Amino acid sequence: MCFQLNQNWYGTLIRHMLMLVAAALVAGVISNQYGWSLAIGLGLYLAWTLKQLLRLHDWLSSHKADEPPPDGYGLWGEVFDSIYHLQRRDQRVRGRLQAVIDRVQESTAALRDAVIMLDSEGNLEWWNRAAETLLGLKTPQDSGQSVSNLVRHPRFKEYFEQGNYAEPLEIPSPTNDRMRIQLLITRYGNNEHLMLVRDVTRIHQLEQMRKDFVANVSHELRTPLTVIFGYLETLLDNVEEVNPRWVRALQQMHQQGGRMQTLLNDLLLLAKLEATDYPSDSYPIEVGTLLKTIKGDAQALSANKNQQISLNLESEVQLKGSETELRSAFSNLIFNAVKYTPAEGKIHIRWWADEHGAHLSVQDSGIGIETKHLPRLTERFYRVDSSRASNTGGTGLGLAIVKHVLLRHRGTLEINSVPGKGSVFICHFPAIQLINP
Ligand code: ADP
Repeated sequence: MCFQLNQNWYGTLIRHMLMLVAAALVAGVISNQYGWSLAIGLGLYLAWTLKQLLRLHDWLSSHKADEPPPDGYGLWGEVFDSIYHLQRRDQRVRGRLQAVIDRVQESTAALRDAVIMLDSEGNLEWWNRAAETLLGLKTPQDSGQSVSNLVRHPRFKEYFEQGNYAEPLEIPSPTNDRMRIQLLITRYGNNEHLMLVRDVTRIHQLEQMRKDFVANVSHELRTPLTVIFGYLETLLDNVEEVNPRWVRALQQMHQQGGRMQTLLNDLLLLAKLEATDYPSDSYPIEVGTLLKTIKGDAQALSANKNQQISLNLESEVQLKGSETELRSAFSNLIFNAVKYTPAEGKIHIRWWADEHGAHLSVQDSGIGIETKHLPRLTERFYRVDSSRASNTGGTGLGLAIVKHVLLRHRGTLEINSVPGKGSVFICHFPAIQLINP
């Protein structure tokens, strides 16, 4: 088509030139002024060409979307035609693209999950209809607004700003407190964000039922157990009046009753930890003092195992949070080290701070844990070896408690271990959770 156009174009050009020269010759014959006739002919042709150019310029600068270019004759007609064809082709491509965009928008609008596109600054660019119900976004007022101004939950602000979106976030919906939503952010393109929001109310309710059930059962079992345990203690206090055949049985019942009480207490503590996001109290905690008391208790627990327990306090930095919760988490780690380290073994506790935050490590020279168990260690009731746990009297809930307490203090747990050599449990706390005295 382009070749044809060029041929036409050259043909027309040559025809125009020949006509011009012929007209100039005729005028020259009549007036006997060949030079002037040619010059006037060329001048007129130039003026006509300039006029067409002007028309094209006018059309280019002020034409509306679908207005075709002006009609033209000869060479200019060819130019206008070509522009018209280009324009039509462009319109067709644009129409097809628009149809694709419309289909994508229609399908995302029909989604029950919300899809929100944010620019690199976190301002809203586009969202589907579900975003209006789940997050309460308003079209078009909210366009260009910062997402943290519209989703005002403090956990969302923190989650959005820290920039690590590996795990989704679950919060109540800004439009309805009884609805729970899960947000998942993915980065794409030029640091833009795509945010997916799902209604997870039903899953949340089931999870809540599970938590309530465990908490209620533990609570209901505690009272009868206290009564049984109390009577067993009284019987053992008056052991001389008891038939000697029953003494061993009573002692075992007393021991197992004690285990059940610890288990119920741990279950209740876990239920309490799960009930809220962050601890209600946020006091400065002297980690040094806390660790010294726990070390004392650990020495008592170690008793005749003759283990070497050392404590290195390299920083005076304090932690913000709940002392009871942190005491429980740190004791679990340190008592585990005592439990799973044989006699004469070494346990080293260290508290230090650096540019990443503050850290507590509990290192032992104990039996260690195989790598395959490490990812599951913080699950409730997960035990490396069930016979091992019954020997040590553990409940299998210790590390689950540690994980929850750390989560509530914005911390993370790192576990490294070599079977037969020993383990290191490190708690990492970010800078926002610290207070410099
Ligand atoms: P438990 O009450 O059984 O100690 P935890 O949740 O505290 O439960 O620990 C889970 C499992 O992890 C334990 O059963 C034990 O096998 C293993 N474990 C925990 N700490 C250590 C450690 N310091 N050395 C070796 N194994 C450990």
